[in-house]
Amino acid sequence: MKNNLTDMPAEEFRKIGYELVDWIINYLNEIEKYPPLSQIKPGDIFSRIPKQPPQTGEEIERVLADVDKILIDGITHWNHPGFMAYFNSTSSMPGILAELLSAAFNANGMLWKTSPAFTELEKAMINWFRQMVGLSENYWGIIYDTASTSSMHAIASAREQLNLEIREKGMAGRNDLPKLRLYCSEQAHSSIDKGSLTLGLGLEGIKKIPVNEKFEMIPEKLEQAIKEDIANGIKPFCVVATVGTTSTTSVDPVKRISEICKSYNLWLHIDAAYAGVTAMIPEMKWISDAWNDADSIVINPHKWMFTPMDLSIYFTRKPEILKRAFSLVPEYLKTQVDDEVENLMDYGIQLGRRFRSLKLWFIIRYFGIDGLVERIRKHIQLAKEFANWIDDEKDFERLAPVPFSTVCFRYNPGNRTEHEINKLNESLLEKINASGKIFLSHTKLNGKFTIRLTIGSIRHERRHIDGAWQLIKTIARSLN
Ligand SMILES: *Cc1c(COP(=O)(O)O)cnc(C)c1O
Repeated sequence: MKNNLTDMPAEEFRKIGYELVDWIINYLNEIEKYPPLSQIKPGDIFSRIPKQPPQTGEEIERVLADVDKILIDGITHWNHPGFMAYFNSTSSMPGILAELLSAAFNANGMLWKTSPAFTELEKAMINWFRQMVGLSENYWGIIYDTASTSSMHAIASAREQLNLEIREKGMAGRNDLPKLRLYCSEQAHSSIDKGSLTLGLGLEGIKKIPVNEKFEMIPEKLEQAIKEDIANGIKPFCVVATVGTTSTTSVDPVKRISEICKSYNLWLHIDAAYAGVTAMIPEMKWISDAWNDADSIVINPHKWMFTPMDLSIYFTRKPEILKRAFSLVPEYLKTQVDDEVENLMDYGIQLGRRFRSLKLWFIIRYFGIDGLVERIRKHIQLAKEFANWIDDEKDFERLAPVPFSTVCFRYNPGNRTEHEINKLNESLLEKINASGKIFLSHTKLNGKFTIRLTIGSIRHERRHIDGAWQLIKTIARSLN
């Protein structure tokens, strides 16, 4: 049947397109019938897929049917309101529509010329989002895939700022280079370590600064570490402050850290991947205290702004340093307008790039700032409520403050050693997740196995949080 050498016929696309849209609507409407965490064994899905690719084309309906037959029970449903693990990342319908359009355009924004609307919409959306989170006009921004990529570019810029000719000469085999050091707290995200190892700074190039009882970086310890390194001939170059750490969502004291960065002339990068969006909320403005002192900031709309994966925003006051670190223009990519426009390929390692800003355009316009603020604010309120429920029960213990929408807790019925309590909570978490009703994750805080519950789904309602709490209590109290 598919013997003409063209794409799928328009009528076929129309038919399957409507079917797919219906499928998506039903899926999202009935998502609670699935367990949020896939209960499948490793290898199960792989074994359902033919070992050989088809020699001749198949009906597209069969592919769609196989989504239900082959894939669906191997999906962990991030859009499920019972998904309260890690940090939620939920997609909204405007975001899903934008993804579809992005695939249809298939615009590649490597140069301004390769789609002027791409580069200019991205610039406009960065400008909107910058105002939404209260950053000054001094910030330039770009969309990358993930916060990991954003932070890697921040560290690369911090290193480029040193003018050590690393771009030309590299680092290996040079005895004219000092050892370089980056500082972040013990609670910083592993992406900082990864950025550092990607750039050849090594894991030893990072010093982890201790935190206080609220899991916030201790600025005095930071300054002490910097002084010690300088005394030992090591060159400090970058500090990463986290606003919303991954385990507990603690907020490092950015103001104090920025003062230290200023006095030692260090690049300050703020990792606000999860919590940064809350700077939109008037009563949460405190989290963006001293942000305008930072050299760079990362915020992920794909975490808590209902944006389908992936979309991370990187802001910097020094785009020229980023460009100096990464711009490399071969003859075949030169254009006549290079002096007048910004070519996004100059600001990072990737050449080709997806049209991600469409998602922001659809989402911000559809919900409006007020709609986004209301939704995120509701999540914070629900988390505070959940934290109060924990505090009100004698056999439960909260293990960290709740500045945003993530609650760290454990079950502690008393009369047990720390080791036994850890074991108890490990099996509690396992049973909760095997229930097929909700999905929670964990961390370890001061040696304590800690259960984490995050609220941030666009589909989260109070009944989901209440249901989760009833389930957690019931399972916990049935353990012995
Ligand atoms: C989630 C998270 C990251 C990593 O985000 P990706 O976009 O998945 O790379 C980094 N830092 C913090 C604080 C995070 O919460």
